[in-house]
Amino acid sequence: MVLCNIKYYYFSFEITQVCSPLSINQLFFCSNFSRVPHLAGTEENFLLAKQIQAQWKEYGLDKVELASYDILLSYPNEAEPNYISIIDEHGTELFNTSLREPDPLGYENITNVVPPYNAYSAPGTPEGEPVYVNYGRIEDFHYLERVLNISVKGKIAIARYGKIFRGNKVKNAENAGAIGIVLYSDPADYCAPGVQPYPEGWNLPGGGAQRGNVLNLNGAGDPLTPGYPAKEYAYRSAVKDGVGLPKIPVHPIGYSNAEMLLKNLGGTPAPDNTWKGGLNISYNIGPGYSGSHTKEKVRMRIQTYNEIRRVYNVIGTIRGAVEPDRYVILGGHRDSWVFGGIDPQSGAAVVNEIVRSAGKLKKTGWRPRRTMIFASWDAEEFGLLGSTEWAEENVKILEKRAVAYINADSSVEGNYTLRVDCTPLLYQLAYRLTKRISSPDEGFEGKSLYESWHLKDNWTEYKDSPRINKLGSGNDF
Ligand SMILES: [Zn+2]
Repeated sequence: MVLCNIKYYYFSFEITQVCSPLSINQLFFCSNFSRVPHLAGTEENFLLAKQIQAQWKEYGLDKVELASYDILLSYPNEAEPNYISIIDEHGTELFNTSLREPDPLGYENITNVVPPYNAYSAPGTPEGEPVYVNYGRIEDFHYLERVLNISVKGKIAIARYGKIFRGNKVKNAENAGAIGIVLYSDPADYCAPGVQPYPEGWNLPGGGAQRGNVLNLNGAGDPLTPGYPAKEYAYRSAVKDGVGLPKIPVHPIGYSNAEMLLKNLGGTPAPDNTWKGGLNISYNIGPGYSGSHTKEKVRMRIQTYNEIRRVYNVIGTIRGAVEPDRYVILGGHRDSWVFGGIDPQSGAAVVNEIVRSAGKLKKTGWRPRRTMIFASWDAEEFGLLGSTEWAEENVKILEKRAVAYINADSSVEGNYTLRVDCTPLLYQLAYRLTKRISSPDEGFEGKSLYESWHLKDNWTEYKDSPRINKLGSGNDF
């Protein structure tokens, strides 16, 4: 293996193969894994863990175990659905965000599809004048307060998704004194020009809302057991003292509902085009509505609750033949908000196929030089929780023995070109390997993947090589 000269270095490596079609086996795994929702903390995701454990054993790994943790998760209240409304001065609802996102074709009769929500939102029913806060970045709030002299104190912020992690938008709104925040996906950030919305085309439909957690964990893992594995012996803090939990209600909506909440905003006009999105509205900032709508307010009804539930990582091992105490780890998450057709099951399918291939080789008498560990992580969507708890539990052994970690989340997304995110130690490895792989792109017959990647993603910083992104946060690495 190419990495075997590099010892005692930590590095992470995430590859997204965005141009090559999945193999027949990968397609099979991907559709098998995405038949029903696999939300963390549910029976369905436990059953999939058991299925993967049985499969990996059958493939011939030396050992396949479930590593379980009892962590704080968050779910919407089924009996009292979350929604946002515009109310008049008597509190009567004039409009509410009841528009549902369309079911994917062929999945109309599947139950347990969790409605769009922001996990770990505080519950509550705040009412207030709305203020449009652009992307909800620190600079956006600075601009509002210091240049435009608009305070969001006691108001309900409406922010578009994009540019920064959604949890930071919530924290910024909270720090600025907002009593609630609505997040939406603006067409300017989430739609391609000239493409019809789904199901006619592949653009985001108006009812499509982005689910996601809004924790500010900074690597803590389970909010109640920061730094330690969430096992039965762990000290747990009270939920009110949990790490990173927001104190205000948060809710995500699609752009059709956002247009209704934003279109009658009055007050200050959007300062320039960097504040304007793609909806056919003026993008006034507010605060509050104008004209005949002056007395109207926004009300959020959020009943999302936190609950400790058990989650399961699947950990499979093939002992190394020469250096068994050096670990090369390949992992990716298994839990999804809903079906996970792209995120994560396209990546989980690739991991499964690699495990199957390694098992097949092992049956011929082969063993890897070093120990290989395969992981199917749980509760990634809730803040990288399954992988973080496992790392916390095994920190001593990992800091001595782990050589490399390769991450597999969404492996196929679009068809443009390859994307690689990794630590700088691995840049040259990625370049060397892609020069030896032929390009799957049309018009690049006989050329290497490196060549088509270089032509299609030629970054401005170093024009003599294709783009590689550094690793931040946002995934299990
Ligand atoms: Zn993912």
